[in-house]
Amino acid sequence: MNYRSTRNDEISITSSEAIAKGLSAEGGLFVPVHIPSVSSADIERMVGMSYTERALEILRRFLTDFTEDELRACISAAYTKEKFGSDTIAPVHKLNDSQYILELWHGPTCAFKDMALQILPHLLTTSIKKLGIDRETVILVATSGDTGSAALNGFQNIPGIKIIAFYPVEGVSKIQRLQMCTQEGSNVFVSAVKGNFDDAQTGVKAIFTDKGYEKELLSKKKTLSSANSMNWGRLSPQIVYYFSAYCDMITSGEIACGDPVNICVPTGNFGNILAAYYAKCMGLPIRKLICASNKNNVLTDLISTGVYDRDRAFYVTTSPSMDILISSNIERLLYMLSDEDTALVTGYMEALKETGTYTVSSRIKSRIAEHFFGGFADEEACAETIRETYQRFGYVVDPHTAVAVAVHNAYVENTGDRTETIIASTASPFKFNGAVLEALGSKTEGLDEFELLEKLAKDYDLQIPTPLKALKEKAVRSEAVCDKDDMKKVVDAFLK
Ligand SMILES: *Cc1c(COP(=O)(O)O)cnc(C)c1O
Repeated sequence: MNYRSTRNDEISITSSEAIAKGLSAEGGLFVPVHIPSVSSADIERMVGMSYTERALEILRRFLTDFTEDELRACISAAYTKEKFGSDTIAPVHKLNDSQYILELWHGPTCAFKDMALQILPHLLTTSIKKLGIDRETVILVATSGDTGSAALNGFQNIPGIKIIAFYPVEGVSKIQRLQMCTQEGSNVFVSAVKGNFDDAQTGVKAIFTDKGYEKELLSKKKTLSSANSMNWGRLSPQIVYYFSAYCDMITSGEIACGDPVNICVPTGNFGNILAAYYAKCMGLPIRKLICASNKNNVLTDLISTGVYDRDRAFYVTTSPSMDILISSNIERLLYMLSDEDTALVTGYMEALKETGTYTVSSRIKSRIAEHFFGGFADEEACAETIRETYQRFGYVVDPHTAVAVAVHNAYVENTGDRTETIIASTASPFKFNGAVLEALGSKTEGLDEFELLEKLAKDYDLQIPTPLKALKEKAVRSEAVCDKDDMKKVVDAFLK
């Protein structure tokens, strides 16, 4: 199966080319030319499989130029018991009869980004080898926190690859910063950017689309690539866990094969929920996709009004990985819902860049409403939900997951729809321990990061995830900070 760009339907490349390139030259995102299907017999078969076997079932439908052996090697290097704590990889925790928490944070950096970023390096090096590329790959990442640590961890010491992560000075948690700045590996570099996530992402996009720079790097046998959720090699592995959760719910007797479920996702860049939409298009019986935002509620407005408007106040919240005003993966959704109208998508994206806003056609608006429900939770609702979820169910959620639970609670109240819902839990509560403890009513004053971890574990009878516990012993390796206009200089300096 081939891939084209959301902004150019004349492009036709293989999945390994799409993964190696990351982003299309004209700024579009790579998309498969058609969506493969999974029948209900296929799903029944997958019920009896392990996570890694389920991953093979899904990925082989999209990455058709990989051999089965290549795919198996990538999958088994990524999803190990050592890295994810057990062979379940992404367990489902039942909260009550309609809410099922899909825990996507058992990987090395304790957030859902590991689900994709542990496998991406293997997909990428396999792609590069298949294509016979003899250049060094330079990965640039703009991160709102979790991507950076997960990407740096996934790519550490992978031969032929260098990785540089930029994070906003204001807007990542202390644990996230420590995870990035202590990351080992001779091929990794980290710098803070004076600005917010969108500034960092805009800076990275500008480097990617700089033709002169591309040439300069090529002459030095280097190419740029992206590990952001725009890369197809990151998005496709995220489709797997929705199928896997559905299978697990069949195994535990919560649903029968064919029963509809809803999926609720705490959303930032729209990658995670888009993967769920792909799962729906492939045949997973999903009724509604519930898109949960924090106070940066651009997507809630898009879904209810059809207007995307990034020209608004930006809020730093306790769910920083969702503090985003430009959700890049929306572009893939618009491409699909416009019946692959690349000219229309290009127009929207140009309007967004030039005016900060665009309005989708009434047809696209109604198609969005057919599949998606959008809602948001402000800081108060988020904290209240952390407290209430613990009081009612004895389960501690992080602020990102709490946003999703809050929006789902409101959804049920408004619609009366009690369909079993898979709620994506995107981070361990330990990763955002300060906000979690405060929401639960514990005193945090004067405690450092590690005392906070201890307190959360002790007061709520939980285990500190091993990778976070280990941070204490690690040396800080980078304290770099740069202006948003100097990001290219930082890249150059590291590559010298
Ligand atoms: C990245 C992230 C999100 C947002 O996911 P998107 O795919 O960008 O929508 C939500 N929660 C956490 C903890 C994250 O790291």
